[in-house]
Amino acid sequence: MSADTPLSKDRANPAVDGSELIRFDKVVKRFGSNTVLDELDFSVASGKHVTLIGPSGSGKTTILRLLMTLIKPDEGTIKVGDAYLTHEEKNGRLVPAGEKHVREVRKNIGMVFQQFNLFPNMKVLRNITEAPVTVLGLSKDEAEQRARDLLDLVGLGDKCDAYPTQLSGGQQQRVAIARALAMRPQVLLLDEVTSALDPELVAGVLDVLRDIAHTTDITMLCVTHEMNFARDISDQVLMFDAGRVIESGPPEKIFSDPGHERTREFLSAVL
Ligand code: ADP
Repeated sequence: MSADTPLSKDRANPAVDGSELIRFDKVVKRFGSNTVLDELDFSVASGKHVTLIGPSGSGKTTILRLLMTLIKPDEGTIKVGDAYLTHEEKNGRLVPAGEKHVREVRKNIGMVFQQFNLFPNMKVLRNITEAPVTVLGLSKDEAEQRARDLLDLVGLGDKCDAYPTQLSGGQQQRVAIARALAMRPQVLLLDEVTSALDPELVAGVLDVLRDIAHTTDITMLCVTHEMNFARDISDQVLMFDAGRVIESGPPEKIFSDPGHERTREFLSAVL
């Protein structure tokens, strides 16, 4: 990557200093009578790559959706940088956070989903330039230059004029990654981004993400069943069970010498 690409270390996240960027404080999320997150506490320092693992239904995707402000918690506070996603303190009591916070958070966070969710009626380049132009106010030329740089990064420099349906699932997912990065988010959320792909297309997408993880300072939260990938990119792995973090640590510890019986059971089932 050249020094002035959107993701170069010094430009992507000038504020990266290892300080706390994300904090969940006693977050409770219920769907009906199902308590999915139960007074969840955790924090992520800026620039770190954190992988969430655990059995299906343990609340991992719910955490990413809360962070993206797609859903709201029932209790507790979520903080991203200076913005409180769900509550802010006024006169000593907590009240729901205002739209200002939600806008601030959304600007700082990019998310890539299991289903790529590209705009089918727009060419690849436009899929990537749309939000930088309409939300960030970039000129069309600036946005296109940024999009071309990112398409080169994900190995699709020759697909600017293709429509999403003309691409493989793996290529579409790489466009979705470029689209998320075009907003220069501080945080990238990855929700099982290879789960919907044919097996032969998985490696290409994971290689792109490894490259991003290893060459940028972007903070990443990743839900994945690809344990080798998790081992490669993570600074920290959080093991979830029934809406709580039951164990956390560096990947070499969690994968080689887990301390909790549930982690051992889970890993022996997926590895
Ligand atoms: P994971 O990502 O660990 O598989 P999820 O966060 O997707 O888990 O889901 C946790 C639990 O919340 C599951 O029991 C799931 O059925 C439930 N859940 C998630 N989203 C909804 C929803 N929109 N409505 C009702 N239940 C939901």
